[in-house]
Order: sequence, then C-alpha cells, then structure tokens
Amino acid sequence: MAHTVLTGDRPTGPLHIGHYFGSLANRVRLQDRYPTYVLVADYQVITDRDLPGEIQRNITELLLDYLAVGLDPAKVTIFQHSAVPELNQLLLPFLSLVTVSELSRNPTVKDEIAHSSQKAVSGLMFTYPVHQAADILFCKGTLVPVGKDQLPHLEVTRTIARRFNERYGRVFPVPEAMLGDRPLLQGLDGGKMSKSRGNAIALSATEDETAALIRKARTDSERLITYDEENRPQVANLLMIASLCLGRPPAELADEIGYGGASALKRLTTDAVNDFLRPIRKRRKEHDEAEAREILAEGNRRARERAVVTLDEVRAAMGF
Ligand code: ATP
Ligand code: MG
Repeated sequence: MAHTVLTGDRPTGPLHIGHYFGSLANRVRLQDRYPTYVLVADYQVITDRDLPGEIQRNITELLLDYLAVGLDPAKVTIFQHSAVPELNQLLLPFLSLVTVSELSRNPTVKDEIAHSSQKAVSGLMFTYPVHQAADILFCKGTLVPVGKDQLPHLEVTRTIARRFNERYGRVFPVPEAMLGDRPLLQGLDGGKMSKSRGNAIALSATEDETAALIRKARTDSERLITYDEENRPQVANLLMIASLCLGRPPAELADEIGYGGASALKRLTTDAVNDFLRPIRKRRKEHDEAEAREILAEGNRRARERAVVTLDEVRAAMGF
C-alpha cells in the first residue's frame, strides 16, 4: 500500500534516545519509501508552558538533531505549525466532531497535566490532540511513527477522520500508528524519558555529560545484575538502553555483567550509548544554523501548498 508518513516533535528541548528508538529510527527508514512530513510543533509548546525566549534556538537545534540522525530534506518535508495557518482552520470543524468527555478522558493528557509545572491547566491541553488530527490529516497522512504515549492521540485522529467522512462524504484516510523498537523508553529517574523532565540522554550531549547522567541513574544495591522489568525496573531500563544501542538482548547483557553490580552496568551502558551516538554526534557538527533555516523555509512552503488543497476539499465537502 502507498503511504504518506507524518510525525513530529515539540521544540521544547534536545531530542533524546527515547525519541530515537521510539520514532526517529522509523522515520529514517520510511523516508526512502514514502512521502514523509515531519512537523516542528511550535504551537504545541504553549500547551503547558509560556513560550520560552529561546524558541527559535530550540527550533534550530531540533533541525540539527533531524539532520544528525539522517533525515534527508530532499526526501522529507520539514515544516512548522505557525507557518501553516490552514491547520488552524481545519481545527475548527474537527473540534465539532469530538465530545468534551472524549477529550477529558485522554490518558496521555492526564499524565501531562500531572507532570505540568503550571498550576492552571490551559484549554489547549484538552484540544491539542484535535490540532494533531489537523496536522496528520492535512497531508492525508496514513502512517504515523510515534512513541506509545501518542496512541490515545492517534485514536482521536482516527475518530475524527471517520466521523468527518460519515458526515460529509469521504475525504480522509484513517491513519495508523507505527510503534518503534522501544515504544516508550523510561528516563533515568524511572518516569517517561522526556526532554522537559531532566531525565533524558540527549542525542547531542557530550560523552562526559552522558557518563555523568548514567552515573546518577537510580539502581539498586544488589551485586548480581538480572533483567527483571517487573521487580527491578531501573536496572532493566539501563539494560534496555544498552541493548537497543548494541542490538543484543538485555538478558544476555545481564549475564555478561553477572556480579559486577551497578557500577559495571553503568559502565557498559555508558560505552554502549556513546559508541552508538558517536556517528550521529559527528554528523550534527557538519550542519549549521543557516542551513537549518533554509530547510525549514522550503518545507514550510511545500506543506502550505498541500494544506491549501485539503482545506479547499474540506470546505467543498461541508458545503461552504
Ligand atoms: P516534552 O516533555 O516536551 O513533551 P517529549 O520528550 O515528550 O517532550 P514530544 O515532542 O512530546 O517529546 O514527542 C515527540 C515524539 O517522541 C512522539 O512521537 C513521542 O511518542 C516520542 N517519544 C517521546 N518520549 C518518548 C520516550 N520516552 N520513548 C519513546 N518515544 C518517545
Ligand atoms: Mg511529550
């Protein structure tokens, strides 16, 4: 089947290995086969925080992360929310297709509210999954490579596509999620690895920073290292990180460490991560800010062209 791929990230900080194994690796694979769109979700930043002064900086860094992992702007349309106003126009009819109770029982939204530093929860917190439906459907996306936290959001998009088609005639495909090798990587503190929770190994961190972060990771005091996700989640998480980087099963790595304890586990994990990220970190240095700006300008132009066509179709289907 011919697919169109769409996915994206908020420019809230450097991308980390959770992003890599959750979604980026799939995007790099898919870009050779299908038309691929990658969204810099800048409007989504204000869901749970004031717009940081460094937003432009964050956007540039995100572009550099993309280039570093091997996204190719000749194949991929990289664009930003705020450059495509048609997305906001799609949001309006889409909002009419979901109920307030559907929006308020979204488990990912609940988790984000629980971790938010802001006291008051914004209306956007409940409606951004609908905005995401516009992000995916404007290009008639059919395949969405994401981490597991995104599954409830993708369900909102699927519901909206189905209901729109039922009410106004078929315009949209019903897209599917594509989960990565590790659909949800834990952070070094045991919660979801997130760029804004200070618990992540950034792709762009130095080798020393990586070593320091892993050294601080919580483990336990047992000497014998075993892979037991249920009873020793933090030890298991380090083994999982090393396993993803080395392409070897985590239980095999645990056997190899044996009675080496947490220090041997952390040493092995640090080396695995640094070896894995070395070529990515090297490639990052081969690109600069001016190049990132040009790529985005071209992507914005292409995305907007596509969005205008879909919005016309939507208006015609609705009889406007
Ligand atoms: P923030 O804390 O600002 O929300 P984030 O780390 O959650 O940042 P997002 O920009 O919200 O990152 O998500 C971008 C993509 O990366 C989504 O597809 C999401 O599913 C995926 N992703 C984020 N964190 C992880 C993780 N820990 N493991 C696997 N995939 C992840
Ligand atoms: Mg997030």
